[in-house]
This record gives sequence, C-alpha cells and structure tokens, in this order.
Amino acid sequence: MLRTWDCLSGEHDWRLVLLAATLCILASLTAIHLWWRAIAAQDTARRIWLAITGIMTGFCVWATHFIAMLAYTPGLPMTYDVVLTATSLIAAIVVIWCGLSYATHRQNNATVLTGGACVGFGIAVMHYMGIAALSVPGRLHWAPDLVATSIVVAIVFGAAALWVAARGRRTLNFLSAGILLACAVSSHHFIAMGAVDITADPTVVPTGMDISPKGMAVTVAAVAVGMLGLYISATAASARAQRGAQESERRFRILVEGVKEYAIYLLDPKGVVTNWNAGAERITGYVAEEIVGRHFSCFYTDEDLIAGDPDKMLSTALATGRCEVEGWRVRKDGTRFWAVVVAQPIHDENGILMGFAKITRDVSVHRANRIKLEQARNNLDRALANMSQGLCLFDANERLVLANRRFAEIVDVDPSRFQPGMSYFDILNVLAAERRAKGTLLQNPADTYRVHMARVRDGSRKPIIVTLSNGQTLAVTHSPVADGSWVMTCDDITARRLSEEKIAHMAQHDSLTGLPNRVYLAEYLQEAISKYQEDGRHVALLAIDLNRFKEINDQHGHAIGDKVLSTLAARMSGLLKPDELFARVGGDEFVGVKRYHERAEINEFLNRIEDNVFQPIRTDGAELPGSGSIGVAFYPRDAHNVEQLLNNADLAMYRAKASLTRKICFYEAEMDELARARRTLVTELWSALEREQFIVHYQVQKDMQTGLTTGYEALVRWQHPERGQIPPSDFIPVAEECGAILKLGEWVLRQACSDAAGWAEPWKVAVNLSAVQLSHLDLVGLIEDILIETRLPPERLELEITETSIIGDKKRALRILSQIKALGVSIAIDDFGTGYSSLDTLNSFPFDKIKIDRSFIMEAERRPQSKAIMRSILALGRSLAVPVLAEGIETESQLAMLIEEGCLEGQGYLFGKPMPSVVPSSQIPSSQAPSSQAPSSQECVTG
Ligand code: C2E
Ligand code: CA
Ligand code: CA
Repeated sequence: MLRTWDCLSGEHDWRLVLLAATLCILASLTAIHLWWRAIAAQDTARRIWLAITGIMTGFCVWATHFIAMLAYTPGLPMTYDVVLTATSLIAAIVVIWCGLSYATHRQNNATVLTGGACVGFGIAVMHYMGIAALSVPGRLHWAPDLVATSIVVAIVFGAAALWVAARGRRTLNFLSAGILLACAVSSHHFIAMGAVDITADPTVVPTGMDISPKGMAVTVAAVAVGMLGLYISATAASARAQRGAQESERRFRILVEGVKEYAIYLLDPKGVVTNWNAGAERITGYVAEEIVGRHFSCFYTDEDLIAGDPDKMLSTALATGRCEVEGWRVRKDGTRFWAVVVAQPIHDENGILMGFAKITRDVSVHRANRIKLEQARNNLDRALANMSQGLCLFDANERLVLANRRFAEIVDVDPSRFQPGMSYFDILNVLAAERRAKGTLLQNPADTYRVHMARVRDGSRKPIIVTLSNGQTLAVTHSPVADGSWVMTCDDITARRLSEEKIAHMAQHDSLTGLPNRVYLAEYLQEAISKYQEDGRHVALLAIDLNRFKEINDQHGHAIGDKVLSTLAARMSGLLKPDELFARVGGDEFVGVKRYHERAEINEFLNRIEDNVFQPIRTDGAELPGSGSIGVAFYPRDAHNVEQLLNNADLAMYRAKASLTRKICFYEAEMDELARARRTLVTELWSALEREQFIVHYQVQKDMQTGLTTGYEALVRWQHPERGQIPPSDFIPVAEECGAILKLGEWVLRQACSDAAGWAEPWKVAVNLSAVQLSHLDLVGLIEDILIETRLPPERLELEITETSIIGDKKRALRILSQIKALGVSIAIDDFGTGYSSLDTLNSFPFDKIKIDRSFIMEAERRPQSKAIMRSILALGRSLAVPVLAEGIETESQLAMLIEEGCLEGQGYLFGKPMPSVVPSSQIPSSQAPSSQAPSSQECVTG
C-alpha cells in the first residue's frame, strides 16, 4: 500500500492523473448506462447494444490506463510497443464485452456477479498487457502480492458494479454502479503500478515507439471524451425523443384505457389478454386483474367454442391482416351481448408477431333496433306486397320511390319496368307503350299526366276512373303527403263495376223477361222529356194491356203464363229501333215509348207493335189469342210530366179496354178526366174502408095512422177527410163496380144490426142490399153470422132490395132470398115502380113490404099518371096482402093524400131526415118535421 502511495505521489504527473480520473468516471457511468440499454433491448438490438457497450467501455478503460501511464514518470525515458498497446486495447474490449454479455443473458445474481467479475478481469488483462507494451532502459521488478491484490480488486469492484446496476434503473444505482466501476479501473491501476519497480539498466535498449506523453494523452483523452460526448448527446437526444414518445404513449394509453364505448385490448400471439381498457371492463364486466393473463376465448359462447371460432378469428386476422366478425359474446355474469369484434395482428419492426389488437363493441341495442327495423320493413313489405291495391310512392320531384308488386299486376306490366327514380311521366309512358302493344290504349300519356297532376295538386283524393277498351276499369287515387311527395293507389274495380252494373240492371229490369221495368221506364221518360228541350223530339207513350192473359194463368198455370210473356218480350225487343223502348210494368201490362218528330213515325210504331203484340202466342199447348188494348198519350201535348203522361196513357188504355170496337185509344182530355175522377174515387174508397171513414145514419119509418115508429132505414155516409160528407148516390155505384160494395155492405149490415140491438125499443132496422151482394157466394151465412154476433132477433131485420137486383140470375137470386127469409129476416122491395117488370117481380117472390119509390109520391100531386101508379101499387099490395110504405114524404098534403089513399106506412123528411142516431118515439110528435127538433146527444139511444 505504501509503495502504491509512493508510486502515486512521487512518480505521476498529477494533471494527467486528473484527466485520467475524469475520463475513468465518465467512462464508467457511460458503461452502466449503455449496459442498461442493452438489458432493455431484445435480441439483435441487445447484441448491438452489448457490442457498443463493450467497445465503448473497453476503449475508455484502455484510454484511462493509457493516459494514466503517460502520467507515470519513473525518471527513465519510456517508449511503447505499438502492437502490444493495440492488442491490450482489443483485449480490453473483448473481455469486457464477454463479461457484459454473460451478465446480460440471464440477469440473475450469479451471472451478473460472474459477468461483473469478468469485466474487472478484462480491466486487469488490459492493464498488464499495457505494462508489457512499455519499453524502458531498465529492469522491472514485480511485487507479486500487489499484482494479485490489483487483480482481485478489479474483479471485486467489477462484480459489485454490475450487481448494483442490475438492481434497477434508479439514479442512485446508476451513480453507485458507475463509481464502483471507476473504482475497479482506478484502484486496480494504481495498485498494479505500485506492484512494479523499475531500476535503470543502460544495457537495456528501449525498442518501442517514443510518444510525447502530453500530446498523446490529450489525443487519446480527446478521442475518448469525444466518443463519450457523442454518446451522451445522442443519449440525451434519444432520451428526449423517448420522453416525447413516452408522453404520447401515455396519452394514447390514457385515451385507450379511458375509452368506454369500445373494449380495446391486446392479446399475446397465443390469444392471452395482456391489457384491458375501461370500455372492456364496462362491456364484459371483468376488471383488468381478473382478465389479464386469461385466454380471450372466455368471451365466447359454448357453441362458438365448439365451432373453434376464437382460433379461426386469430388465424384469419393473421392471414388477411384483419378479421371482423359479429356474434354473441359472454359477459362475466354469463349474460350475452351482441358484439362487433375486430382483430388485427401486431408485428414489431422486424416483422415478428407481437400479438393482436382487439376492438369489441357492444351493439346489442343497435342490433335489436336493426331487427325491429327489419321486422317493420318486412311487415311493410308484406303489407305492400299483399295489398289488393296497387301503390306507388313519389317524392316531391315526381320521382318514383317505391311501387308494390300489385301495381305491376293490376296494370299488367313486368314489375322490373318500374324502377325507383323514374318520373311519373315515365311511368305513364311505360303504361302507354304496353297498352299500345295490347291495343287497349285510350288516352295519350300527356293528357293523362295533365289530368292526374291536377288531381295531385288539388289534393281532393277523388278517384279518377280509367276504363280501358278491354273492359278493365281502374280507380286511381292521388293522395298528397306533407313534404310534397304523394301516394298513388290503383284499384282494379272491374269486378265491382260489373256487379254494380248487374245490380243496377236487376234494379231496372224485369227478371222474367229482361225488359226494362217501371224504374227504368221512369228514368228513360224523364230523360226523354228533358231531351225534348234540346232536340224537339216529342214523346209518345203506349200503355199496352193484354186481353185474357189472366185466363192463361188460371187455366195453364203460371209457368206457361211466364213463357207467354217471355215470348212476347223477345218478339218486341227484336223490333225496336233507336229512340224506342219496350218495358214491362205489371203482370200483363207493357209500355212502349218512342221519341219522334213526325206523327207518321208514331203510326208506324203503333203498327209494328200491333202486328207483333196482337199476334197469337202459342206455347206448350197454350195460346194467347193476341189481343189487347193500347192507350196512347203524347208529351208535351197531353202531359207536363212523366207521371201525367203515364196516367193519361193508362186512361186512354182503359177506354180502349171498355170499348168493344177500338183496340187503340188516344188520350182525350174530357173523356179521360171523368174516368180519372172515377179511378181516384175507387182508390179512395178502398182506403176509406181501411180507415173506417164510413158511418151509418138512420131514417125513421112511421105507421101513418098511429104516428108510431115502426123502424129505421140504415143509410150509409162517407165522411171524406177533404171533401166532407159524400152521399151514397155518388159512391155506391162505384163501390158496386169495383167490388168494394161487398166489404162496405157487410160493414153496414153489421153496424146496423149492432146499433139496432142496442135500441130502447124493438124497432125494425131496414138495410139496403146491393145486387152485387146478392150474387155473393155466402150471403146467407154472413147474415146469419152477423145476427148471432150482434144478437139481433132476425124478425127485427129487414133487407131492402131493388128490382134490378134480381133481374140477372133471377132463379139464383130468388133462392137466396128464400134462404134469407127462412132465417126469419123480412125482405122489402125498394124503389118499387121504377123497374121494367114490377108485377112479375112481385109475383115471383113473397116480399114482406113494398116501398113505393119517392118519385111517385113527389109527382103524385102534379102528375095524374104518377098518382095512378101510386094508387095501383097500393091496390096491388092490398090484394097481395103485402104492406106498402111510401118513401119521400116531405109535406103534410102528401101525408094527407097517402092516408086518404090507404097507405099505412111512410118515410120521409116530414118524419125525419137520416140522422146519425135514433130518437125514442115518445119524443117525436107524429106530424112534426124532425128537422125542427134536432135531438141532443143525451137523448140519443144508439148502438
Ligand atoms: P133508398 O134506399 O131509396 O133510400 C132513400 C133515400 O131517399 C135516401 O137517400 C134518403 O135520404 C132519401 N130520402 C128520404 N126521405 C126523403 C125525402 O123526404 N125527400 C127526399 N128528397 N129524399 C128523401 P140517400 O141516403 O142519399 O140514399 C140514396 C140511395 O143510396 C138509397 O136509396 C140506396 O139505394 C142507396 N143506399 C144508401 N145506403 C145504402 C146502403 O147501405 N147499401 C146500399 N146497397 N145502398 C144504399
Ligand atoms: Ca132503401
Ligand atoms: Ca128507395
């Protein structure tokens, strides 16, 4: 130690020693720094860094030694063997590099210590080879103990330096390790220098190169410092760059780790998760500690695992550079989510696979929405496809957005011809071309376009009916939508229209003959009348009634009757010319209509109808003789409207029917007006029966000698709601004609019997019986029923019949009268003397009373003939023992005359006018006109 100090203090140039020490510290720190870099690097980079570390450290250690050697002034001239000096440099580099490499390759305590020892040994090797290169004129004496010490010191410090450096990249470690390595170099050098002693020997001739110590030292130091400086500045720049990179990496990491929307994580090449971001945690539920280190297949469903999807994904990503898949993934809690996953392989700068970057996105909501949207779209598509209507949607620029299949079907065009983006005009052109080809074109597309666009603009949604020449009918509707677009729908209404037409036809035509019916006729006439204003054509209406058609029906049945009508209809339909019509308006009632200018046209029409309608019709053994009646009326001559025209033609027809000579009658105002009034009366009569507008009045009949009431005659009255009370003479004949008398007579009989049954005294009631009633099948039964029903004793009922009633079928009439009489009912002969063979009548039947017609009584005082007839009737009665009643007694003189002539019974205004009720006899003075003492209602005794 002492020798070492002596050597250091006495034999060295301190300035150079200082330079060497500085260089030694810098070199040591640099060596540690470089070694750390080598540790941090991998593979080739590491090898390169190790080489650089070895070269730098070896050179600097050598330079330190060389400068220290130059500082050594043993007092003898020193030269250097160049080859050995260079060899020592190479040895330093190689051995140090070996030590560092060994320490690096495992980095455990043993290798680090061994490697560090090797570094220390390399320092020693370099030192002693450097000493060996020294050539002085003297001899070198070695102290073996110091030599050994110097080597051990180098090895120990070297090992310690690397051991400290390997403890971690901290500043303290850096400085400690650097100082330890500097100690290894410096302590070894000075101990080793102390171990040598040079004694001068002039016989020894130096063989080395003479080097100026100061110049050389400066040169070597400059090279070493330059190298170090270069390295330090490169390192500083690199550190700055690294810091920048780290900063951006940090920011990037914060960004990646902070992203919550996406799971972003890395896999190693085998698929093990190596890092994890917040998004991954949010989506899967795993925190980083739970998942880092696990294989990413834990996110897959069992099915996908069986299918080997995880491996497939990595291999695809590897093969194609990117793999994107969609599918179910499993969360930590076992629930599933629908994910879009992208995997990309990551390679280092040398193309070696480092792992995979994976980005996973939970698109469950998005997928659910997409499915919903798809479903909605599918539903819409299905609805559109299955609509019965064709539908096209156009945008505000009239461009087709969509068209359903039904539209193409309805217009019978290949659906591919309607493409989105086509204008409405284009579509009309397509349709026009198609229809032109099929020959069903009706309108040119430009016109159609104008009409349709006007409808789009007016927004009325009123359908446009398009009828094609092939009979197809379409209803096209344009419905504007808010933004200027519109929906066009197209309906094939052919079938509907046909059935409507059929219904309309059925409503307007007779189902049996197919001829127009009354409804159609009315419309046709209405139109014909309105057209008269335009073209001046008159309208002729022919009311046609077949004769004896009822007999065909009755004798041969309705089927044959129907055939007759059909035959006639067919016959007529074939004959019609323009502006003519033949309609069936009732069972055997037909109507012919013709619009005409000249009267001659009507004659021709009438002839045609006559020739055909009045031809015998034979069918299935039945024959309609082919006769009928035609009534003709003209518009505007005979009528102002359709109803009048129909009525007037009917009236004319009735006249023709009544006529024995004329088959065709033209309407004549006067004649036919009477008939009209009568027809009106008939209609009203029937409805009056329904509505009970009749009442019965009673006229008293008296015993003219005692003045006592013998009975009352029932006389019917019609209380017409508009015309007031109508006398029986105005309606009885009509009632007899139309048959209403049967019902009316029955009603009067029942009413009279019922009233009489309620009278205070058992007066007789006389009821008039019409001839029509007498011919009624079961008159006797009816009378009997009514008597039973009203409980009126038969002897209180008297029926009055006129002579004319028994003229027709006299035998039958008399038989019936006998049967009635047999019931106990008495029969009076009314209006006696006015008939043709009054005596014969009296002779043929045992009447109970003769009523002298009031005309004889009224005229008796003026006309002797009348008085004579009156007298003879009274005489006849006396001789036949039939009581005689005189009608129409109005005056006292008439009464006196009749009493004088021996008439016992009387009736007339003198005794009382017909009244709605009967009055008790005690209140009627025998010779007072009943008009002067109108009975009050309290005094009335009625039924
Ligand atoms: P009739 O059977 O000869 O009836 C007598 C008619 O003479 C009645 O007219 C009566 O009001 C009228 N009369 C009675 N006393 C006088 C008088 O002093 N002076 C005048 N000028 N006339 C008198 P009425 O009620 O208008 O009846 C007319 C005819 O109508 C009846 O003639 C009868 O033939 C018929 N008639 C009335 N009621 C019925 C009925 O219920 N059934 C049927 N079949 N015929 C009836
Ligand atoms: Ca009478
Ligand atoms: Ca009479």
